[in-house]
Order: sequence, then structure tokens, then C-alpha cells
Amino acid sequence: GAAVSIHNLCKRYNNFEAVVPTSVEIASGDFFAIIGPSGSGKSTLLGMIAGYIDPSAGRIVVDGRDIVPEPIYRRNIGMVFQNYALFPHLSVAQNVAYPLKIRGVAKDEIAKRVRESLAMVRLEAFASRMPSELSGGQQQRIALARASIYQPSILLMDEPLGALDKNLRDEMQEEIKRFQQELGATVIYVTHDQQEAAFLADRIAIMRDGAMTQIGSPRSLYEQP
Ligand code: ADP
Ligand code: ADP
Repeated sequence: GAAVSIHNLCKRYNNFEAVVPTSVEIASGDFFAIIGPSGSGKSTLLGMIAGYIDPSAGRIVVDGRDIVPEPIYRRNIGMVFQNYALFPHLSVAQNVAYPLKIRGVAKDEIAKRVRESLAMVRLEAFASRMPSELSGGQQQRIALARASIYQPSILLMDEPLGALDKNLRDEMQEEIKRFQQELGATVIYVTHDQQEAAFLADRIAIMRDGAMTQIGSPRSLYEQP
């Protein structure tokens, strides 16, 4: 079934339509990429799904329930940003533990899951370090571990590799793919990189001027005869 159903969702700033009324269904377990030039409305759409941007109209249904505005760490949606958004004053382990801590999960359980999560991104040895001691790629892997530690059914990523250089991007693409398969989550992934979308996604939506102008598999979009 659909993990995410969007019905006539739109966002206006004054008289400017950043996202025109948009409807789309994203199947459970899908890797769904949203691609388009800067200013086409990708981040606004993702922000509405994440719940930190209020829609002007329309509905978002996640796992059969309407989204209402509430802090991201309290809902069953994980989010990864381009700038990692790690807490600079918390250690790696404390960053990863955070979503469980605010949910009141027991200490032993947190310790176990932090170890598992760090193992999944192969950074067990870095638990006690501070984020500033890590490379960009390592910080992004920590952000992935934190976003997924409470096993969200949906993982949102806004240009997660945008701050990394080309070699690291290629490596991290593999990592993200492996990570999604291990987690079995539905991913909605914003990028402006066509190659990245084609490599990662099962389905791609192309956005232009606030509208999804095409939706299809990488094959159907990019390998037309
Ligand atoms: P993208 O992620 O594709 O670069 P955005 O969703 O960030 O696009 O922005 C879509 C459009 O909405 C842009 O023209 C942007 O300037 C405008 N926009 C975004 N946020 C605001 C805001 N808070 N107030 C006014 N306009 C905004
Ligand atoms: P706090 O004082 O907030 O409990 P800690 O730094 O002790 O912060 O740990 C935060 C969480 O991360 C705890 O659940 C802890 O079990 C786990 N943790 C801390 N250090 C490590 C480590 N080196 N390896 C694995 N997990 C750790």
C-alpha cells in the first residue's frame, strides 16, 4: 500500500505559489527522488511532509494518518539535511541517542541501539568523539544513524550529499542505498543531481516551478528511445 499519500498539497507565500496543488502516492518501501532546479519547490514540499512547513491547503497522509504540525523528532519520520544538523555540543553517541532519549526509552535499550546504529554506518569507534572532530562524510553517516535509530517508517533526505565532494558523494550513494535496504524504509530524497537520482531511486518526480511535471522510473524518464 501507500506509505505516503499527498492530496492537492500546496504552499503559497503571499501571492507566490512555491508548490502548486500536487497529488502523489508513494508506495511503502519505495525510494522516491524529487529532482529539479533550485527554487522549484523541492525543499518546501519535503518540509510540509516533514511537518515543519505549514501547507496552505491539502492533505498528507502517512501510514493512514493525517500529518499535523509537531516537532520532527516526535513523529515517526526521520530527516537528514544537507548540513547534517548535528548538535555540536553533544558527542556522537549522544547525538544518535537523542531521538530515543526524548521518547523516554530506557537507558540500557538506548545504549544497545546506539551501538547497533553506529555499527550500521560503521562508526562504532567514534561514539565518544565530538561532531567537529569528524569529516563531512562521517558527520553525514552520524546524521543517518540518528535519523534511523527509532526505526522510522519514512526517511526524508534533503540534498544529503550536497556538501560533499564528488568522490565522497559516490561512496555515500552506495552507503545510502545499502542503508535503505537494511532498514526497509520508504525514502523521499531531494536532489538536483540527475545521476544521483537515477542511481538511487525506484521512482523520480521532476519538479519545475512548484509542479511535478513528470513522474516515472529512472528508465522511463532518462532512457527514452
Ligand atoms: P528548492 O528546494 O527546489 O530549491 P524551495 O522549496 O526552497 O525550492 O523554494 C521554492 C520557492 O519558494 C523559491 O522561489 C523560494 O524563493 C520560495 N520560498 C521558499 N521559502 C520561502 C519563504 N519562507 N518565503 C517566501 N518565499 C519562499
Ligand atoms: P548521557 O550522559 O546523556 O547519558 P552519554 O554520553 O553517557 O550521555 O551517552 C549517551 C548515550 O549513548 C547513552 O545511552 C550511552 O549508553 C550511549 N553511549 C555513550 N558512549 C558510548 C560508547 N562509547 N559506545 C556506545 N554507546 C555509547
